[in-house]
Amino acid sequence: MLALLLPAAAHGWNNVGHAAIAQIAENHLDKNAKKALKQYLKGTDIVEIASYADRYYYQWYRDIGWQCTNPKILRRKPSEMDSLPTNLEPWCHSYSVDSLFNTYRTNREGEEYVRNCIMDLDWLVKNLKENVATMDPEERLKQIALVVHLTGDFHCPMHILYVPKAPTGGKYSIYINGEKINIHTFWDSRIWGFLNKGWTYSEFAEEADTATKQEIEEITKGDVYDWGSANAIAAWPAHHLTNATQEQREFTPAYAESFRWLVYQQLRNGGYRLAKLLNYIFS
Ligand SMILES: [Zn+2]
Repeated sequence: MLALLLPAAAHGWNNVGHAAIAQIAENHLDKNAKKALKQYLKGTDIVEIASYADRYYYQWYRDIGWQCTNPKILRRKPSEMDSLPTNLEPWCHSYSVDSLFNTYRTNREGEEYVRNCIMDLDWLVKNLKENVATMDPEERLKQIALVVHLTGDFHCPMHILYVPKAPTGGKYSIYINGEKINIHTFWDSRIWGFLNKGWTYSEFAEEADTATKQEIEEITKGDVYDWGSANAIAAWPAHHLTNATQEQREFTPAYAESFRWLVYQQLRNGGYRLAKLLNYIFS
């Protein structure tokens, strides 16, 4: 298939973050979930499929149903696929919060399209819970992979869009040793090397998976919308460079260091919450 030759879109926590979150979730799956995933994923596991949604970004579409979500600017797809019907778009990988850090329960606000992977995730979990045993195997694999991936993405600080307008989501650049890079790219793929050079996902997972049973209960309380709001509050400081002057946007190892806690917290929380969702689906 020609589309598979296209470069993979770089989204979310990169492979390291997505795999680390999946690994932490794997550590906390119950018996039923493990058994079901073994059966449905046919020899692969949630770590392996954690970045499928990025890899198949341009092949995995959903029907967005109504016209005002269709402005071209919000649709990222290669020109080769421009002939697709306009009511299709790739699954959203980011989400929005309002000025009080509340998540939205819809993806439209008046005539505006509100990015909302949390709403998509909520739908996927409910759909799998209901239909997983009877679904078409390929569709089932895709939806499980989306649950794994989108849970990772909504724990990624730069996948949160603060409304009203904060120029987030990679809309401004920072400078690392004179090199200009997009803040979103830094958080997606460079932060790992800054924090622990050469570490693999499993080392990050091991380092992050340290919460007690009681702490895990606290972290996984509530639903996906509550978790989205909590993430938005936690990640807000990481967006603060937004208001800095250009010189202040010189990104230093000390700056990355100041967010070490946030990275580990988001990996840990994402992992426990993903385990909770999967345990629920297969219970
Ligand atoms: Zn993604």
